[in-house]
Amino acid sequence: ALQLKDIRKSFGNVDVIHGIDLEIEEGEFIVFVGPSGCGKSTLLRLIAGLDDPTSGDINLEGRRVNTVPASERGLSMVFQSYALYPHMTIAQNLSFGLENLRMDKAEIQKRIDDAAKLLQIDHLMSRRPGQLSGGQRQRVAIGRAIVREPIIFLFDEPLSNLDAELRLQMRVEISDLHAKLGNTMIYVTHDQIEAMTMADRIVVLRGGYIEQVGRPLDLYNNPANKFVAGFLGAPQ
Ligand code: ATP
Ligand code: MG
Repeated sequence: ALQLKDIRKSFGNVDVIHGIDLEIEEGEFIVFVGPSGCGKSTLLRLIAGLDDPTSGDINLEGRRVNTVPASERGLSMVFQSYALYPHMTIAQNLSFGLENLRMDKAEIQKRIDDAAKLLQIDHLMSRRPGQLSGGQRQRVAIGRAIVREPIIFLFDEPLSNLDAELRLQMRVEISDLHAKLGNTMIYVTHDQIEAMTMADRIVVLRGGYIEQVGRPLDLYNNPANKFVAGFLGAPQ
């Protein structure tokens, strides 16, 4: 399980996260929604270890990880911008960093082969990112997360650069991936349909606070307030 206990974050004298308590069970698909600037990416970065909370505790599988570096937390993050290395082949993009973990070559190759097959990008291994479509690039970005075999996947609006049709397809693929791998996934989106269809539980954020946490239909049918109702598109 992942526990956030009274997490606060300030940049300079600006408070961005105001005290967040949240417990996420192993295997859950959690979706963070909320308006631009409410702190979704900041919260993901704190969980990932890419930034440190100003106060509060982050516990992962019973261990306090506040000061544990990102590379040792066992989490993988997928960004909206893909963040692939343009000068490397797809195969190199997937394997990059695994060598540093002192993994042997055969194990690295097996992980890459398995991920490539799963994501149907095995025919693209010798290309470079510039020679791929948006959807293919996003699959590579997800593949790079998979080969690390993380305990938790963190997705920050991974589909927002894709057109509507591809978004729909990738949404289904990510849900399938969750069903197959069974990992905990934390997924940030602006898209209400993604939130409603993908989430086990939705966390609605607003201005650095949690407004409400619950299963999609519970939030839809029993929103705590007009803000939640408006955000999830329930009739008012
Ligand atoms: P969006 O939906 O637009 O991606 P978000 O919910 O992900 O928004 P964050 O990126 O977490 O929002 O930002 C939350 C607030 O913190 C914003 O007001 C932002 O300007 C501020 N912020 C984020 N990173 C920094 C930083 N490094 N320095 C100063 N302020 C920051
Ligand atoms: Mg963001």
